[in-house]
Amino acid sequence: MTELKTVGVIGAGTMGNGIAQVFAANGFDVTLVDTSEEFLSRGTAAIEKSLARLVKKEKISEDEATAIRARVAGSVNVSDLAGCDLIVEAITENEDVKRALWQAIDAVAKADAILASNTSSISITRLAAMTSRPERFIGMHFMNPVPIMKLVEIIKGHDTSAETLAATVETTKRLGKIPVEANDYPGFVANRILMPMINEACFALMEGVASAENIDEIMKLGMAHPMGPLRLADFIGLDVCLSILEVLHSELGDPKYRPCPLLRKLVAAGHLGDKTGRGFFDHRS
Ligand code: NAD
Repeated sequence: MTELKTVGVIGAGTMGNGIAQVFAANGFDVTLVDTSEEFLSRGTAAIEKSLARLVKKEKISEDEATAIRARVAGSVNVSDLAGCDLIVEAITENEDVKRALWQAIDAVAKADAILASNTSSISITRLAAMTSRPERFIGMHFMNPVPIMKLVEIIKGHDTSAETLAATVETTKRLGKIPVEANDYPGFVANRILMPMINEACFALMEGVASAENIDEIMKLGMAHPMGPLRLADFIGLDVCLSILEVLHSELGDPKYRPCPLLRKLVAAGHLGDKTGRGFFDHRS
């Protein structure tokens, strides 16, 4: 098996900047792509902030932070990924937007590149079929925040080859992460189980069962969860939660996955959680 060395990460948002940082911290050369210089610099600023925190906590030295920084190049052109051994897509959770991008990647990526999506819920088999090489396509579902969380859910599409799976598992281990395999069904394992809990917490809030603070406190203390479901939803992004629930609802066809109207209302108002400053909680101060 040839060792992967160069990685393209597409999308410099919540997940993409963390994924780029972790690859760079483990010696990979990374090209981070977004649609504009503004989005790119937001992503690199997040990497800076995370590295500064690690230096302050003495987890890495100033020299290591400089080396990690130097291994991440920014670009607004997908064509700059032509030489990459692995391309990880972490753009908006929308199938049409992902389709346009995967067709563009397919046109430029080298023949033996591994193509991975960080999607939370969209079918890996369907995304793979947007390219001419479904056997090289796989789901690599990192958890948020990427530099901290150990799990990477690895999702095999219908035609993912054993070679692609083995190389992805091996690469995940080189990142110091723990790969766990799942098959390709809506939401895979993590979000199939997490999102109904978040959605139920949202219904409980809407129906006045308890305040947002108390719902979270009960789930934290009662279930030994490190974060309550509403705080976690703000952290993930309410738009991302809504998109995932819509995929679960439409593809599994079970009304138990219907997104809570309060979640829809907050997304419509543009209150998406941490990334916009407001969600179930106010993060502006
Ligand atoms: P985000 O909204 O924070 O960032 C998405 C980024 O993609 C933005 O910077 C946007 O400009 C960029 N983008 C959009 N279209 C693009 C294109 N065509 N080319 C290049 N860049 C493009 O989203 P996120 O939370 O980072 O989610 C990204 C992916 O990761 C989604 O598929 C999501 O389901 C998945 N995911 C999210 C979380 C989470 O906790 N937020 C966890 C695991 C997986």
